[in-house]
Amino acid sequence: MEFFPYSPRPFQEVARNLVEEAAETGSSLVMEMPTGSGKTVVTLAGALAAARRAGKKVLYVTRTNSQQQHAVHEFNEIRKASGLAMRAVALQGRARLCLKLEDTQDPEWQDATPEELGHFCTAAKAATDKGPSGPKACVYWSGLQSMNAEDLRAFVGDEARTAEWLKSAARERGICPYEATKKLIFDADLVIAPYFFAVDAGVNQRLMFLWGTRPEDVILIVDEAHNVPDYLRQLGSARLSRETLHRAATEAKELGYPEAAPHIPSKLLLDTIGFAIEDVVKTFVVDDDGFLPPFEFETRLLDRFTTTTRTLQIAAEALQQMGEAIKDRRRLLGRIPRSYLAKVGRFLAAWLQTESDTHVRLAGRTPSPHLEAFLVDPSLAADAIRSFHASIHVSGTLDPLQEYRDALGLAEDTKLERFPSPFPADGLRVRVVEGVSTRYGSLSTDPAAVDELQAAVRAVIGATRVNAACFFPSHRMMEEFREVGVLDGLGDAALFETKGVGQEGLMRLLAQHRSSTTASVLVGVLGGRISEGLDFPGRELEAMVIVGVPYPKPSAHQRALFHYYEAKFGKGWDYGVRAPALRRIRQAVGRLIRSETDRGFAIILDERANLLLRSGGVEAESGTLSRVVEEFSAWQAEPVSAAEPRAH
Ligand code: SF4
Repeated sequence: MEFFPYSPRPFQEVARNLVEEAAETGSSLVMEMPTGSGKTVVTLAGALAAARRAGKKVLYVTRTNSQQQHAVHEFNEIRKASGLAMRAVALQGRARLCLKLEDTQDPEWQDATPEELGHFCTAAKAATDKGPSGPKACVYWSGLQSMNAEDLRAFVGDEARTAEWLKSAARERGICPYEATKKLIFDADLVIAPYFFAVDAGVNQRLMFLWGTRPEDVILIVDEAHNVPDYLRQLGSARLSRETLHRAATEAKELGYPEAAPHIPSKLLLDTIGFAIEDVVKTFVVDDDGFLPPFEFETRLLDRFTTTTRTLQIAAEALQQMGEAIKDRRRLLGRIPRSYLAKVGRFLAAWLQTESDTHVRLAGRTPSPHLEAFLVDPSLAADAIRSFHASIHVSGTLDPLQEYRDALGLAEDTKLERFPSPFPADGLRVRVVEGVSTRYGSLSTDPAAVDELQAAVRAVIGATRVNAACFFPSHRMMEEFREVGVLDGLGDAALFETKGVGQEGLMRLLAQHRSSTTASVLVGVLGGRISEGLDFPGRELEAMVIVGVPYPKPSAHQRALFHYYEAKFGKGWDYGVRAPALRRIRQAVGRLIRSETDRGFAIILDERANLLLRSGGVEAESGTLSRVVEEFSAWQAEPVSAAEPRAH
């Protein structure tokens, strides 16, 4: 099979040909292929073959770093097998690759946005051009400038390199890895990048410019595509917190409280917005968030200033301009060019501009009181994705495929394909424990239900003798169970995925898990970094405890999504509640089986999982806690082909 580096399994041949056909005809393809079935190599092989014939390029976008590394690996295999001099570049943002930033160690810069880092870099390059040894200059930029294109090519070699390889080699050589990728990209057949490069119109435009191409000449592959609708929602929503307002007020004071519009001093405007946020949170938020009645927030501002919407729009623009002045001041002082006044201005403009039928108006109280214009329909933020010559969307858990197609506004004739698992069914056992549940109502009102669930977690964890994972529906529940000692029995064997853990922290955790001489248990959340997108081949992960069905919490966000799915598809429950919960469980369980010889045992502590799994065609049996634990213990004692099971 052309461009395929391994001996293909029959379904891989079918899938690869579907990709090639869509890429050639300039259409879209939405595919569900189980984890471990070779999605990456299948999509790359089909797309690269079509691109070569049609004179196109391929953009492969991923959510995580490890997916990017995997795509680099598979490209190199394809390249070797094809014998063609194809080239690929793996892109990352400055936050990952900027060596000057890493050297700076200034905490203010560590959470800088891509835009802020862009300014940081421009200033550093300008300072270097004036005098390479100046305090603001960047030695890595001058190092790169001393290399010509041929030197750079020879330095990188013919193979595709991971961003990590490039960063470490560039540090040794004293050149900037970020700017190096920009120079290497122009003749690449394939670019592997985070989602942002395909989804954000501005970033996408800059990428096309550097690449010397247009979206119409690019075949897009979206990996782990089930993440994309929520990613787009986040991108298209606007949020303003009380904390941002406090910081904006400090900036306005620094500027001497200029007027935002005739008879509207900036101080009064910021104070009024702040009071309005606190008041609507008190009035409309019941738990974490709540809906605002139409025009509730803007009416408060209009009444306070007896003015018009147009004047508020002028005020929003003025705040943004004041923000630019603040950024200039910060830049001159060598500080991060960040402005909260500009953020408030952008939010106010977006709030007044967006319609309530596309953006639901919400208020929330965590982590601090805030307002949000929440984009429910992701197709409104998917223009960039739809602009490519062809797009291939693939994931291990994309069902229902029509929902995905319509959520992104892909064409009606988009091909939808679902491939079954290629692995022997007896390799995986899924057991549902009867008599326990994480049902929201019962856990919040019935202490006995919590005790039973905690006892069940203790029993299963206590019986675990192999490398395992334990996933909770939320960080809050994980911490609550941890605090009351439910996981104490694991001792040092427990490795926790804490909320917001960064890439380096995650890699440390995995290294600890993999190098442990006794069995360890990774503890995290469904939908988290460990339960999605990471590979655990062979005996690295054999068992899994899933504490509860991750039905979305009945928040205002969730109700907004429910109404959107009900109005657009007549499937509020199915698309808004059932499908995301099933997807998270299938993603997690998919970590257990990565090859024909893998075996896995998943225990779900929630009787509601029976119905849910059945609705998604997932084979599972249910039983009492003692029966399931007994079966689990016997299963662990069964001889396996590799080393004997390890004890804690
Ligand atoms: S040239 Fe590179 S290392 Fe220097 S500031 Fe810019 S991104 Fe950072």
